Amino acid sequence: MARILRRAGHEAYFAGGCVRDMLLGLTPKDFDVVTDARPERISELFDRTFQVGAAFGVVQVVLRGVPYEVATYRRDGPYRDGRRPESIEYSNQKEEDVQRRDFTINALLMDPDTGQILDFVEGRADLRAGLIRAVGDPRRRFAEDRLRMLRAARFASRLDFEIEAETAAAIRELAAELTDVSGERIVAEVDAMLSADRPVAGLEMMEALGLGRSALPFLPRTAEGRTEIYRAIDAAFLSSEPEVEDPEDRLAVCWALAFDTHGPDEAEAWMRRLKLSRDRIRRVRQLLSARELLQAPDDHAPVELARWAADPRGSVLRRYARGRGAARAEARLDAWQARWQAQPLPARPVVGGNDLQALGLSPGPEFKRILQEVDDQVLQGRLATREEAMAWLRAHYGPNSRG
Ligand code: ATP
Ligand code: MG
Repeated sequence: MARILRRAGHEAYFAGGCVRDMLLGLTPKDFDVVTDARPERISELFDRTFQVGAAFGVVQVVLRGVPYEVATYRRDGPYRDGRRPESIEYSNQKEEDVQRRDFTINALLMDPDTGQILDFVEGRADLRAGLIRAVGDPRRRFAEDRLRMLRAARFASRLDFEIEAETAAAIRELAAELTDVSGERIVAEVDAMLSADRPVAGLEMMEALGLGRSALPFLPRTAEGRTEIYRAIDAAFLSSEPEVEDPEDRLAVCWALAFDTHGPDEAEAWMRRLKLSRDRIRRVRQLLSARELLQAPDDHAPVELARWAADPRGSVLRRYARGRGAARAEARLDAWQARWQAQPLPARPVVGGNDLQALGLSPGPEFKRILQEVDDQVLQGRLATREEAMAWLRAHYGPNSRG
């Protein structure tokens, strides 16, 4: 990777998160390489087939399954309104590239051949001391790009680091201005925090810095209200059961718990404003709509919980129930699962639309309801096989039935 650039007479260094992680003995998620080569040159040097994108002169390359991003040294152009720089200027000097980075621990370079560290910002000392410190004047850097305040909370919580005093003071001072940052960028940082082993750690750090409601303005107004929500998210993920979970499912549970003081429609309006994905909105809505069922499972037909329990993603509702302290519903979900452990469910659905047509019914909106009715019987153990289901259908919907 870097060798190709170096053989072509360019400089190339590992930079940013991967250097930080390697020095901490963690496995980097991906590798950023910086170089004095200009984007056109990078494109020439790397086989086009490896390129998956080239924006702002960043070339993404996947080698032996490891993703790399190669970027030209730059210095950021003027910032406007504390968001993103209006323009990006390329540079020939690595010293300049380092100065534009957010925190000293993210501003280290590593020579890929020798492993030697190039440290222009005393980042290594901060890494050893466990400190998140802005590169340069923290007030200026946060005023330039306010998202950096959230990033400070994310790195501090993930690495279990402290935020250096001046840096923390600047965040507290500017916290209210985070509202200027776009929803997408905030959501990306918050999702990254919520994807940690202990999802609530990042939110607690945000709260401590005064960023809680400025990042997520739909959270309750009072600190007590917000604490309640953090407690719920923590409770949902406290168990150490080795559940294999889809990261999107975990995030949906967190966001649904965060929207606990809102109805589904209100929550959806917020989620749209924050530009959450359509899939996320759907999942969160589904959980929010299950709140009544979880709160009073006995007021609903037992099959409603059974349907959730039988869903491959039933564990999502269980986590959500745990977060909301809905112990009764959680126990019911477990009971269904235990029941099916003893007497496994058949592959569902046991019958389909064709079977209904074979019975002489004509296709229409009724089909869905009838098939659901059969499935409900299956979930409750009243029908166990296709044959039983067909017999039941003949009796209820066949040519000689009452129905
Ligand atoms: P992670 O392991 O979570 O990806 P990372 O340090 O690689 O952490 P990225 O968001 O991938 O974080 O960014 C890569 C690098 O780019 C950072 O290490 C930092 O040097 C720089 N960087 C990213 N975002 C900003 C920003 N808003 N302001 C200044 N520098 C930034
Ligand atoms: Mg990264």
